[in-house]
Amino acid sequence: MKTPMLVVLAAASGLMAAAPAHAALNVVTTTEDLAAIAREVGGDKIKVESLSRGYQDPHFVEAKPSFVFKLNKADLLIAVGRELEIGWLPPLITQARNAKLQPGAAGYLDASLTAKILDIPTGQITRAMGDVHPQGNPHYWLDPDNGKRIAMAIEKKLAAMDSANAAYYAQREDDFERRLTAADKGWQAQMAPYKGTQVVTYHRSWPNFADHFGLDVMGYVEPRPGIPPSPSHTIDLIKAMKDQGVKIILVEPYFDAKTPNSIARETGARVLVLPPSVGGVPEVADYIKLFDYDVRQIVDAIKSTRVK
Ligand SMILES: [Zn+2]
Repeated sequence: MKTPMLVVLAAASGLMAAAPAHAALNVVTTTEDLAAIAREVGGDKIKVESLSRGYQDPHFVEAKPSFVFKLNKADLLIAVGRELEIGWLPPLITQARNAKLQPGAAGYLDASLTAKILDIPTGQITRAMGDVHPQGNPHYWLDPDNGKRIAMAIEKKLAAMDSANAAYYAQREDDFERRLTAADKGWQAQMAPYKGTQVVTYHRSWPNFADHFGLDVMGYVEPRPGIPPSPSHTIDLIKAMKDQGVKIILVEPYFDAKTPNSIARETGARVLVLPPSVGGVPEVADYIKLFDYDVRQIVDAIKSTRVK
């Protein structure tokens, strides 16, 4: 059994003192998606707070002084990883002076480690080129199967930190997976008639979503992840969309709609502003509602472009 080792590790990292059995674990996440999944698994045995809001671009979150305070008090930090938060999180972790949360420490969970990651670069990619996805696509939570993988990783972590409630976390994780699987059957049924529909997206936020639900992302408004639209790229994109009859442009709520709107005018496509995260719009209050909302919006948009 590994229990003795866990006890030693927990004692060495100060977890025993910070989280006695009767106190809720204090969990901080970088995004509302991770907070929503942690809430599903942790129930009332944990307190969860997200640093960023779902309507913000998670690559570029404005750090507030309150973030440092929250990180200082946290037992566990759950991050998306794959450098999604590299522009804002590392200095906050340094300033928080909380040894438990340093990357590699017991109170730091990189949720990407057990997820299915797409777009892993094969050639040399450097940040100097502007690409904000140098370690593969960090928007992996937009696949319900990755939602399950994230939930399992959180369950394992919570059980290790708070073994008295391990059965509680396991039961809640099972229940979440069961509800997610049932909901996914409905989403797949809604999307089934539209499999293979070509779409353009602003940023590369949707490869996992497209993979799971059978959409075909044929181009991007950004020339490269993190690089704003350029006239030459936009002209090429308009031509490709006209050639292939692409009628949907997905735009994350935090991007300027000016270029997507002008592309839509040229091509007759429809711009659909779609939240990629929990909290992106008020009715998307949890992880399952995120897909309820996005799938419904996409299906409605595709239908509207096909009505003549
Ligand atoms: Zn991105």
